[in-house]
Amino acid sequence: MAKITVTVIKADIGSIGGHTRPSQELLDSVKGFVDDAKNSGMIIDRYVGYAGDDIHIVMSHTKGVNNSEIHKMAWDAFSNSVTVAKNQGLYGAGQDLLADSFSGNVKGMGPGVAEMEFEERHNEAFAVFAADKTEPGAFNYPLFTMFCDIKSNTGLLINPSLAKGVVFTVMDVMKNRVVDLETWLQVPEIAAILMYPGRYVVESVKTKTGEPIVSATTDRLHNIKGTYVGKDDPAMIVRLQKTFPATEEACYAFKDAHFVAGNTRGSHHMTLMPVTINTTATSYFCNPLVSALLFSIHDGKFTGPIDGFEGPNWDVVRKRAAEKSEGLRTQGFIHPATLIPEELEYNEGYKDIMGRIEKLFKQR
Ligand code: 13P
Ligand code: MG
Ligand code: MG
Repeated sequence: MAKITVTVIKADIGSIGGHTRPSQELLDSVKGFVDDAKNSGMIIDRYVGYAGDDIHIVMSHTKGVNNSEIHKMAWDAFSNSVTVAKNQGLYGAGQDLLADSFSGNVKGMGPGVAEMEFEERHNEAFAVFAADKTEPGAFNYPLFTMFCDIKSNTGLLINPSLAKGVVFTVMDVMKNRVVDLETWLQVPEIAAILMYPGRYVVESVKTKTGEPIVSATTDRLHNIKGTYVGKDDPAMIVRLQKTFPATEEACYAFKDAHFVAGNTRGSHHMTLMPVTINTTATSYFCNPLVSALLFSIHDGKFTGPIDGFEGPNWDVVRKRAAEKSEGLRTQGFIHPATLIPEELEYNEGYKDIMGRIEKLFKQR
């Protein structure tokens, strides 16, 4: 069997009654185009779902990463479905489609891309973590937990492969450059760079022999168009089991419901709440959310997904996430409940007011 590529391409192309979830008709439209690609033999298998108002297409194929045929198909599936969103009057119809036409690679055009090519193991398993109302750096904390925090993940100690360490590739999203840092010698460097998720974002994690474990979306829409046009809600693929993190180790890394940037108007901090697959964004000030889709794959054919965040333990985490969020919300507009001015997604009103105040200042 040739090497398999798993590609996740995601975009927000419209949602019902605000930034909530796509309509069934919109999902059916995207799925229809992806199914055509499957029927024509371009891809082996596919799954289409959503996290809040973001639709993700998960595909398997043998064409490798950055394949223009695959990227174009996903771009077409999204862009040809925008008419459905428009005809239904959905909110933010076409929100994440920033380019007018496709030009070789969907990266930088609005949709987020995470993909990896690998030799399929006999019992290949992987997770897709799909988030909404947050930013790509939201995965910094769980990825540090997964690969650097022995107290949270005993697997780093008792699995000989994980104990050897991994290589993080981290992107500086402001300067469009990357750096490779490896555990265990460079854990302080990894910690320091992951400390500011608004700027430094994990792009991938590999073994020291180059086997892909993690691939994440790293686009920041405000850098593409020069201004914020919506938080670039991230997704990532994590290969699981054997020499990689166990499913329970990967999912458990989300147990702390840490604070992330995003939620209402993409301008606040609230917790990242683990939710079940295909969850509508909450109207509770748009608390950021993440879902975990667990797949098995054999000869490129998917079984699943099943839900990584269902059950009573995760209900406890959801409660904790809600309470922590509420704690920060009580201080309203005062930072750090709100983001710093450069990170406010809608900062026009703030700029107007500050402009007026500027004129009132007197020199001391
Ligand atoms: P999305 O980025 O998920 O579209 O949400 C935007 C927003 O401003 C929600 O209040
Ligand atoms: Mg939206
Ligand atoms: Mg969204």
